[in-house]
Amino acid sequence: MTTYQLEVIENTAKKDKPAQDQLPFGQTFTDHMYIMEYETEKGWHEPKIVPYGPISLDPAAMIFHYGQTVFEGMKAYRTEDGRVLLFRPEKNFERLNLSSERLSIPSIDEELALEHLKQLIKIEKDWVPKTPGTSLYIRPYIISTDANLAVGPSSTYKYMVILSPVGSYFPGGLQPVVIHVEDKFTRAVKGGTGMAKTAGNYSSGYQAQANAKKEGNADVLWLDGVEKRYIEEVGSMNIFFKIDGEIVTPELNGSILKGITRMSIIELLNSWGIPVTEKRIAIDELYEAYQAGKVEEAFGTGTAAVISPVGELNWQGKKMIINNHEIGELSQKLYDTITGIQTGKVEDTLDWTV
Ligand code: PMP
Repeated sequence: MTTYQLEVIENTAKKDKPAQDQLPFGQTFTDHMYIMEYETEKGWHEPKIVPYGPISLDPAAMIFHYGQTVFEGMKAYRTEDGRVLLFRPEKNFERLNLSSERLSIPSIDEELALEHLKQLIKIEKDWVPKTPGTSLYIRPYIISTDANLAVGPSSTYKYMVILSPVGSYFPGGLQPVVIHVEDKFTRAVKGGTGMAKTAGNYSSGYQAQANAKKEGNADVLWLDGVEKRYIEEVGSMNIFFKIDGEIVTPELNGSILKGITRMSIIELLNSWGIPVTEKRIAIDELYEAYQAGKVEEAFGTGTAAVISPVGELNWQGKKMIINNHEIGELSQKLYDTITGIQTGKVEDTLDWTV
């Protein structure tokens, strides 16, 4: 690990903390943020924790024009005895560097990034909410900052971390959602950027999501970009099915994001002696299994919701109603176990929390 002196500039004008039962996602930010600069000559340098506030960028900064940027999403959880836990944070930094590689952004020192994140959270520990289901959302990201309109990688970057207290994703408990199977727009293709967490993968989904919402769906299920046949992801989550007793999830093929919740669910199920099959899953075959009464459960997985049960899939005018719009037994058990580990209520036998 490279050693850098972390400078801390304290915010003397601290904000009032918001009410914990009304925390809309990603709109409230803590008193401090983390920032580190990159220049070709110096590498990553000058890590700082500074008061949260606007930053100044040249209007020609490359991030505004060609979207050379990557980000991560993770959470800090409050335990009943008042400790603050991170869930497999090293996996997020590993993925950040994988995303950076795809976007031609220089890698960061993963150990140093985790060390500095811990210091930032220590400073902001009072911002980690206590109400069940709430957490402190952590957004690390890198932006390209050269003032240069020539298409090509930047020579300067900023790596930043901002923190936002967030409410429970499902305040009333898990709630199965209605999903449109998207067969017009594509999220990602093999060889593209689907396996990276980069801005354009998200904004390019808005149009499909807006159309789906107009028809009463909560989000879309993405299919592969070539044949529009193989299931990829649901909204910003990975997807699992229980079909005729077997747990299946699309295999990582280059266009699917390698979710940390996905990975954890596979490892957890394996630790319970339940195998998970990672394979290509065709939507028409899913429909056949559905007609044969074999689709028992479907759920999305991700940091935001942990588990999001799917109650209905709408595909080319055909409806698949899964488990009678009810929460599946496995979905509930996985949700309870993972959220239990995250908040220190369930023994962390797999050594996931920090
Ligand atoms: N797919 C996409 C496209 C995502 O943005 C996310 C959220 N990071 C996920 C899947 C789930 O990943 P994770 O479990 O690491 O949150």
